[in-house]
Amino acid sequence: MKAAASARQILTQLHEIMASRTHAQGKLDRVVNIIAESLDSEVCSIYLLREQMLELFATHGLNKSAVHVTRLAMGEGLTGTIADNVETLNLAEAKAHPDFQYKPETGEEKFHSFAGVPIVYRERAVGVLCVQHVEPRRYEEVEIEALQTTAMVLSELISNNDLVDEEEALGLAPEQTGPATIAGLPLVKGLGSGVAVYHQPRVTIDQVMAEDIEVERQRVYRAFHKMREQIDSMTNNAEFGAGGEHEEVLKTYKMFAYDEGWGRRINEAIDSGLTAEAAIERVQQHTRMRMREIDDPLLADRMHDLEDLANRLLRIVSGQLGTAATQGLRKDTILIAKNLGPAELLEYDRRRLKGVVLEEGSLTAHVVIVARAMGVPVLGRASGIRGIVREDDEVLLDADSGNATIRPSQSVAEAFDTRFAKTKERQAAYAELREVEPFTRCGTRIQVMMNAGLREDISNLNLVGADGIGLFRTEFQFLVSATLPQREKQLRLYRDVMDAAGDRPVIFRTVDIGGDKAVPYLNAGDAENEENPALGWRALRLALERGGLLKAQARALLEAASGRTLYVMFPMISEPWEFDAAKKVFEEQLAYLKKQRKTLPEAIHYGAMLEVPALAEVLDLLIPKLSFLSVGTNDLTQFLFAADRANPKLAERYDWLSPAILRFMRRIAQATVGQQVELGVCGEMGGRQLEALALMGLGFRRLSITPVSVGPIKELVRQVDLAEITDAMNGWLTNPPENMRDTLQKWAADHGINID
Ligand code: PEP
Ligand code: MG
Repeated sequence: MKAAASARQILTQLHEIMASRTHAQGKLDRVVNIIAESLDSEVCSIYLLREQMLELFATHGLNKSAVHVTRLAMGEGLTGTIADNVETLNLAEAKAHPDFQYKPETGEEKFHSFAGVPIVYRERAVGVLCVQHVEPRRYEEVEIEALQTTAMVLSELISNNDLVDEEEALGLAPEQTGPATIAGLPLVKGLGSGVAVYHQPRVTIDQVMAEDIEVERQRVYRAFHKMREQIDSMTNNAEFGAGGEHEEVLKTYKMFAYDEGWGRRINEAIDSGLTAEAAIERVQQHTRMRMREIDDPLLADRMHDLEDLANRLLRIVSGQLGTAATQGLRKDTILIAKNLGPAELLEYDRRRLKGVVLEEGSLTAHVVIVARAMGVPVLGRASGIRGIVREDDEVLLDADSGNATIRPSQSVAEAFDTRFAKTKERQAAYAELREVEPFTRCGTRIQVMMNAGLREDISNLNLVGADGIGLFRTEFQFLVSATLPQREKQLRLYRDVMDAAGDRPVIFRTVDIGGDKAVPYLNAGDAENEENPALGWRALRLALERGGLLKAQARALLEAASGRTLYVMFPMISEPWEFDAAKKVFEEQLAYLKKQRKTLPEAIHYGAMLEVPALAEVLDLLIPKLSFLSVGTNDLTQFLFAADRANPKLAERYDWLSPAILRFMRRIAQATVGQQVELGVCGEMGGRQLEALALMGLGFRRLSITPVSVGPIKELVRQVDLAEITDAMNGWLTNPPENMRDTLQKWAADHGINID
């Protein structure tokens, strides 16, 4: 075997073939001949995808009459398995493999050993390159590598139509140009349409075969140097020095960046005649394939890091730097990414960003929390999207139903537009309610406030006409920042929010981080290893222990509110002493400011969130201390039902309108009757019309909800008679109907109340 030098030899000859003026089939025939010869193999065949079937396009050693006759479905036989799994097979005895299938027209019965590699284009197999031998032996690693390198070059040549006639083009062509729909998990509901833009534009490898190997070697050498500098400066940056998971990640990055084996393999790939870009990609493909064989989630995570680093290297070497955000969006856009960080999302122009499709993503991912606040629909877990969608393809994102249609047909696009227009019409109708005060039919004023957390949310306040901000999630500023926001920075945000709100109240919730909303720089290392982060070291529990954090926030809030009324709310209070301890931190800061002769807030109102069921048992002890109490139904329901709010499998299982929740809510409301405390709800429950109706029937008069719900809830309020719904609720809670939702829906219809 002349294996070691074979890749180089094959590539040199491929150069010659490409330069020749032979027609496509002639070139392919020569390609299989030189591969067979270089690898000393009796058979070499190329199968390419056409109309979703793998068709034998060229062979050396099998019956020529089988060319363009033998066809296999994806997953059929060894060839189909290689393509389907995008994996390499190396078998001493082909027949012994469970997927072996014999195609008599090829005359392959006499060959025992078999090795095949996928020809990959955009992470999808578009063909298979395989060799066969009479002797039953496994091919050597170097031979397999030579095959893989060749397959990579073939993929480029094929996609450029250098090896196949255009009309014979690959299966990838029709599929890549026709409509396609991909399903996913709705992470932020809503509709959006635009052109596809990759968050990290794909590095396009224009040239695979090197002109001058030494030049390529120098390019990689310089790129490695630059990448190491970047990683070093990140690690040394004080901003990241606080330890915790982030530091771990950087350590791993550093380990990979300096890994000699990685550099050596890239150099070897360059030796075989590839350009720097192709060599990096080639090694990455190989690593990907090997990692796939190892079923270990920890390694999969590391693979993710290595992918990240390889992409960085590729970008440096090719000069294709920056994300789509830095280049600016030119049209209405649906952003496509494997995953995103919240800060990365915030870099995009909100006016042009109409939706996001992620291959990964989960309901609690920070980026999703931020996207929800930005009002950008997000579809997650859209696996395979990056293999289907191309830059600039038209995409219709339906994150209500959980799918995205790429390159839609005209009729689908029209149907989507009609639906979209209807949604917009409804929103426009709600906009007319902006200045309207929400009084019930019987004349009671209901407070409809909105939830917020980002600087960008401030404009919504006037846009939707809310009565104020009933929940300002201060942790958003922490989540979107790479470092702990300094006190001055916090102060500026809080002051700007209060300025924008004017006379309307803003209820600032102290940071609710930890657990699933972990921030790396806080060194919440212990919290990250928790089995049940939602029940763990989070929110006020963490803030009281990390006293400096709460102190800084208290001072920022107190200073921002100088001369005005400050509303502070503490999350996840489980026992009254926690409220006392948190309030004490504020009072100490207040005393300090007083000593400094600073202008103090005119008034300070302290409140608590009720999210932990245990607190309901001791409300008589807590309420006298409070100005207001706000029920966080998102956490409360997950604790009442012992059902993780982030688990999509449980998302639809328990209903907010179940008697258990409603009775619990009534109990809380009754505990506040006759007390000097304002009661509200600030979980998602209050933003839904039927649920809001039920809450009004239980005695709730303040709802703080997501901005898009303000209009619909105001409209609902204006149709309600409180005495009627209170009576009805009392009856149903004594004798719960079989289906509360249906019963309430019917009741609303009977009472002339429109529910969207
Ligand atoms: C809640 O738990 O209901 C709530 C409003 O807080 P968050 O969703 O931020 O946990
Ligand atoms: Mg909560």
